[in-house]
Amino acid sequence: MSRSAHPAGPRHADVLPEGHYSAPPADLNALDAKVWAQTVSRDEHGVVTVGGVDVKALAEEHGTPAYVLDESDFRARARAWRTAFGADADVFYAGKAFLSRAVVRWLHEEGLNLDVCSGGELATALSAGMPADRIALHGNNKSTQEIERAIRAGVGRIVLDSFQEIVRVAHIAQSLGKRQRVQIRITVGVEAHTHEFIATAHEDQKFGIPLAGGQAAEAVRRALKLDGLELIGIHSHIGSQIFDMSGFEVAAHRVVGLLKAIRDEHGVELPEIDLGGGLGIAYTSADDPREPHEIAKALTEIVTRECEAARLRTPRISVEPGRAIVGPTAFTLYEVGTVKPLDGLRTYVSVDGGMSDNIRTALYDAEYSVALVSRTSDAPPMLARVVGKHCESGDIVVKDAFLPGDLAPGDLIAVPATGAYCRSMASNYNHVPRPPVVVVADGASRVIVRRETEEDLLRLDVG
Ligand SMILES: *Cc1c(COP(=O)(O)O)cnc(C)c1O
Repeated sequence: MSRSAHPAGPRHADVLPEGHYSAPPADLNALDAKVWAQTVSRDEHGVVTVGGVDVKALAEEHGTPAYVLDESDFRARARAWRTAFGADADVFYAGKAFLSRAVVRWLHEEGLNLDVCSGGELATALSAGMPADRIALHGNNKSTQEIERAIRAGVGRIVLDSFQEIVRVAHIAQSLGKRQRVQIRITVGVEAHTHEFIATAHEDQKFGIPLAGGQAAEAVRRALKLDGLELIGIHSHIGSQIFDMSGFEVAAHRVVGLLKAIRDEHGVELPEIDLGGGLGIAYTSADDPREPHEIAKALTEIVTRECEAARLRTPRISVEPGRAIVGPTAFTLYEVGTVKPLDGLRTYVSVDGGMSDNIRTALYDAEYSVALVSRTSDAPPMLARVVGKHCESGDIVVKDAFLPGDLAPGDLIAVPATGAYCRSMASNYNHVPRPPVVVVADGASRVIVRRETEEDLLRLDVG
């Protein structure tokens, strides 16, 4: 219980599945398909390849550390979500998980929509040609400039997060002679994390307008009165890295209850509901994520059932997966610098990156896997902790993992499932330049976000 910075944080570290890292895996050279990108395998020399390119070649060409992203896997996952939800629903990829222009183009081509939550994300989306009407703007404190840009560009929806914002967006839209499509984000009193959820009356967090105490109903009342707004629906996002669908069930029940109250009070049936993102992925072999088609089926059934019970037309559903699309598609490739056994404890393996390229372990006590990828090994397993090169003892990438006992400087190791919330949360701590994002597909690699250089860092420092 050291920190509680995030809903999926350490408060719930005690609910990890049993047997987690209690013993080394049977085969340290095996690559669990659950945690690795789809095209990852070992070649006849034992070197890991992805998209038909081996990691030694990748390290040589692009250096380490590097995020290596499997394009066909990304497209396949995006398509699976799109197909699972079909034509009567919308899938908005949550850009905060990882956004670049290449990603925007893939999403566009695969028929997905896009969530952004800052001017920078909006600029990236627009510059890569995502049609504005397929973009949603989120955030609990959008600046007036961000709101104005979004409305001018013609974004498909703005998700309103507070009473002030209802008025602010209405005012800006009206002054531009526009009527902006909006949803109101409400908090339904569901805290969902990995393997459990808690249904409460209130939620103690910064996002959304509480359903409790009639606040959400009041927000709807105000939004319906303002000429600058076209209220199209209600939005709810209940957490992250969720495996248990019952949290969504409670959330949908409460959102539909509000839709019914709106119909009864105003005679209006809002046409859309957004159930947010937060679907879990496998970071380790202990995680068992659901397939998009199972999630789509479950969510659609829940909403349909709740609406039938409330005698409402079933609204158009949208969802916002970020991690579940990009998370599994990338791994971080590191070179081992030092191997330091601490007798009776564990072996510290230092890599050439760390908390600047993956803050999730330090921030949320996140779990990761790791494997030796430049060769296979028959050495007995050693309990290892993979740490970075930063001046901070909390600079941990993988807290507990088994690696081969003959691991040595110069070996390449990779941490899978780093596609989401790693590059997008990367920092320049210790003036370490941020790693590139290298895309592999069909036997070739290309850089989509280049490595930062010391020159880049110095350019910002104007003396
Ligand atoms: C973060 C976020 C998401 C995406 O969450 P994932 O865990 O990446 O699926 C979706 N919607 C909203 C509103 C969010 O804040």
